[in-house]
Amino acid sequence: MYIIMLGAQGTGKGTVAGLISKETNYPQISTGDIFRQNIKDKTELGIEADKYISQGNLVPDEITVPMVTNRLSDKDAENGAILDGFPRTIEQAQKLDEILAKGGKKVDLVINLTTPKEELIDRMITRRVCPKCKSTFNIKLCPPKVEGICDNCGEKLVQREDDSNPEAIQRRLEIYKEKTSPLVEHYKKQGVLRTETISISINRMANDVAKEVVEYIKNK
Ligand code: AMP
Repeated sequence: MYIIMLGAQGTGKGTVAGLISKETNYPQISTGDIFRQNIKDKTELGIEADKYISQGNLVPDEITVPMVTNRLSDKDAENGAILDGFPRTIEQAQKLDEILAKGGKKVDLVINLTTPKEELIDRMITRRVCPKCKSTFNIKLCPPKVEGICDNCGEKLVQREDDSNPEAIQRRLEIYKEKTSPLVEHYKKQGVLRTETISISINRMANDVAKEVVEYIKNK
């Protein structure tokens, strides 16, 4: 089963994807994580991608699409995957359809997460990530057991560069609205969209949504 996580930055896509991945064994493929690993390792791809990511802009398709194509050709993704951060434009969605169609596969489910805008900005500012195992925490909503340390691997947590830059946060939300949000209608028309709200105001957080989605997938 191929699942796409849709939603603005800070909605909890990565957290929900991680929880679903644990329960289903489909790998979580996060384009943002792959880019950040490459930036950390100072690879050619990372150096190029960083020019866009640090400003909150999208990395060009010439870099992103081959990277995703490659990752989807790995053995662990042959029966399914959870795409977290791709596609982000209609063009990328069309590319994904082409990549999957080559193996007789298709997008089976799109989980569209929504959260009130003021919560999103706050969540980005208070997000902390583990540079080693990629776990995500939030100093307000989901703090690690020991301050500043990853619960899973003991590494020191960091703040993403694009989360500490107010202009980059604003730019990412603008790009989401302009380029990514049309995907909601696109996948609704295909009959694969499932929309879920994650918000402290209704006491519904990532693990509540993940639990229901896992049930749904298992019964599908
Ligand atoms: P994320 O971790 O999903 O918030 O992604 C972090 C950054 O990586 C984004 O703000 C973009 O600069 C870049 N990025 C991630 N996925 C894509 C994509 N599908 N297309 C272009 N750029 C991307």
